[in-house]
This record gives sequence, structure tokens and C-alpha cells, in this order.
Amino acid sequence: MTADLYIRNGRIVTETSDFTGGIVIKDGKISQLVHGNPEIEAVETIDATGKVVMPGMVDPHVHFSEPRPDAYEGFETGTKAAAAGGITTVVEMPLNASPPTISGELLAKKQAVVQQKAVIDVGLWGGLVDNNLTELPDLEAGGVLALKAFMSDSASDFARSDDDIVFAGLQFAAEHGLPVGVHCENEYITRFLKEKLQAEGRKDMRAWPESRPPFQELEAIDRAIHLAKASGGHLHIVHISQAEGIRKTIAARQAGVNVTNETCPQYLLLDVEDYVRIGPTAKCAPAIRPRELVEELWGSVLAGEVDVIACDHSPCLPKDKAGAADDVWQIWGGISGVQTMLQGIITEGVHKRGLSLNLLVKMMSSNPARIFGMYPQKGSLEPGTDADIVIVDLDAEWTLTADQLLYLHKHSAFIGYEFKGAVSQTLVRGMPVWADGEIQVEPGYGNLVNR
Ligand SMILES: [Zn+2]
Repeated sequence: MTADLYIRNGRIVTETSDFTGGIVIKDGKISQLVHGNPEIEAVETIDATGKVVMPGMVDPHVHFSEPRPDAYEGFETGTKAAAAGGITTVVEMPLNASPPTISGELLAKKQAVVQQKAVIDVGLWGGLVDNNLTELPDLEAGGVLALKAFMSDSASDFARSDDDIVFAGLQFAAEHGLPVGVHCENEYITRFLKEKLQAEGRKDMRAWPESRPPFQELEAIDRAIHLAKASGGHLHIVHISQAEGIRKTIAARQAGVNVTNETCPQYLLLDVEDYVRIGPTAKCAPAIRPRELVEELWGSVLAGEVDVIACDHSPCLPKDKAGAADDVWQIWGGISGVQTMLQGIITEGVHKRGLSLNLLVKMMSSNPARIFGMYPQKGSLEPGTDADIVIVDLDAEWTLTADQLLYLHKHSAFIGYEFKGAVSQTLVRGMPVWADGEIQVEPGYGNLVNR
């Protein structure tokens, strides 16, 4: 049997192995892993000498903004940027379509857009909001991989959930085996502090983190864990910004609660002084933390306590960032980072802090695939599974410039950042989607991943 593709003589890394070898691909699937550098008959060969070859990254936390009538970033540029960042599957959040994805009908509209525009594979989140409990069965039947709720105001059309709705969503999840992703911040504390700062006339960059201090995030994490325990549902706490929050999830899991955690590169690559220096493009929620909390979070990552690193890519119009620079309350809260997450974690984790590539693959590919029901089809290199692969030049040094960004609106908190580690090729189901510095496939190549 002649293979379609042979990726040869690379450093093959999964969550549990690391060896010199190759990957043989037939019909979009991995047919064989080989050790060393044997001759294998194949239609095409990629020489991966000197490169790292890993399962493609699975990012379960991106926001693309389709369908909606205005020019926010949608699935085409969003998935192209993800491919350039070594990501082969994303799971997209329900917030930023307009209207948001909170019913089976709205889900179907988004699924049609994905099938036309995506260049990598895409799963979808369904929304859990204060008025759609009766829609959850349709969302589940429509194939969503998870449900998402906000405990604090989302600053969008996506309604906040009080504890009753989070609890009811977790009960539904317990019956149907879906994770419920929760944005854990305390609505009442953050609103009180914001109004107090506004009354004092504050609208500078530092007012934002002052209105969203670490303790209020921890309170919401505690409360969500209590609701998960009471309901038996799978709680997945998104974008935890501090090690104490991660440790709460670990302690709860050890006590039998079904809870997983996620953090994001912005909480690992940036501290609050970086946020002030960078300005509007670095505003996000939870807020960027002081350096000592950033280093403590790295400690949690290196100790294996973090389940998932995901980017929380949340693009917006230029007027929402630079155009609102003189009033922090008006600036869009969200970071554009899907193209640079992997390279950032390699730079700060692998090169500067000794993070193993095995653990990187676990947090950024295998674990997210598991939590969102796609493993081992995604997130592994097991024979018979999708040939979703990223080839990385671990030591390539480069500095991000705006013209390299594939985003629709070319802003990022990481412009000017000095990276060590670059994505050479990204393959989805055996097809090079990103290679030679360009996207290689047409919109629509990406598949919808339903539950
Ligand atoms: Zn998000």
C-alpha cells in the first residue's frame, strides 16, 4: 500500500512519548507511527528533520462573530489564523454571533456558516442564559460539544446567568454528559467596584483590574464548584487567571466533584504592568494579574495542575480597542491571540521555564479533546485517527508584526513580542492547511465536529 503522505525523521511528541520517527498517513488518517528514519513508499514526503511533530492543537475557547450583520471577525479569518498558530480544531463560543447561539435554530445557522468558511475543524458551544432552559435539548440534539454560562455581565447580548440557571444547566449537563463552561467572576462585587471607581472619575487602564480583583474571581469559582457538587454536572471553569483558582478545582476534584480547569496565555505571558504599557489590546476579563500571581500560575502549569490552556481569542472592531482608548470602561474586553498561543507557550514555558513538550501536548491538545468528547479522534497520534498534526521549528526566533496577523482586524496584545518557536506546517486530516507561510486550502475545507 502506497501511503498518501510520510512525515519523516522528526521529533515525534505526544502527551506520553517523545522519539525520533515518522508518521504515515493514508486517506486523511494516521496509518502508522514509525521509529527512526525508514524508507516508506508515499505519494508525498515531508522532511521533518530538526522539527517537532505533535498532534494538532485543540483550542476549545475561541470567539468568532458569525453570523452577524457587522464586520467582526468570523470563521474564515479566525480559522486561518488558528491554522497559522498550529491549531487543527477549535470549539467556538456562543456569545458573539448576533443573536447569540442560544437555540437550536440559531445553532443551525451558525453550523451552515462554519461549513462554508472554516479551514480547520470546528465544534460549537451552545449558550446557557437566563431564559433558554427549554432550548437546551435542541442545542444538545444539534450537536453542541458543551454549554457556556456567565456568572458576571458578558458585555454583549449574551445574558448573564444567576446561580439558579447555572445550577439548572449543570443538572441538564449531568443527564446528557455535556460539560458546562462557566465564566467565574462575581457580578455584584465587580459592579459595585466599577460604579465606585466611575464615581471617582476613574477611567484609566488601571481602573479595570482594580474593579475586578482576584478575590471576587475566587468567590465565583467556589460557588460554581458548590453548584457542580450539588448537581453532579461536569463544570469546566474557563480562563482561570490565578493559581489559587486552579488549586480550588484540583481540591474539589480530589473530593469527587466533576470539575476541570482552563487558563489562557494572556495570564501567563503578560502581567499588569505589561497590560498598562500595551494598552487597549490587552484588556480582558478576568483582568491581567500582577507578576507574582503570573509566576505562581506558571508554578501550577509546571506542576501539572492545569487541565487546558486555551486562548480565549475574542476579536473586535478597531474602534472598540484603539478607538476607545481614553476610557477603559468603553474598551472591548478580549484579546486576539489564536495565532500566537502555541508559540507563546513554547517561548515562555518550554524555553524559559522547562515545560515539557509532553505536558504541553496534554494541556493544549489531548485534554481539551477529551473534555469536549473528541478524543482520540482529535488530540492524539493513534493509528486510525484523524491526521491532525503540527510541525514546529522549536528554536526559530521571530518578532510579531501586525502584517503577519491573519485576523480580519490586525490588532493583538502580542505585537512586538519576541517569540522563540514557530509553526512550520499545520495539517488537518492529512492536508497541509498552513505551509510555506500561507494558507493552502479554500474556505469550507474545515469540518463541523458534532457530538
Ligand atoms: Zn471567552
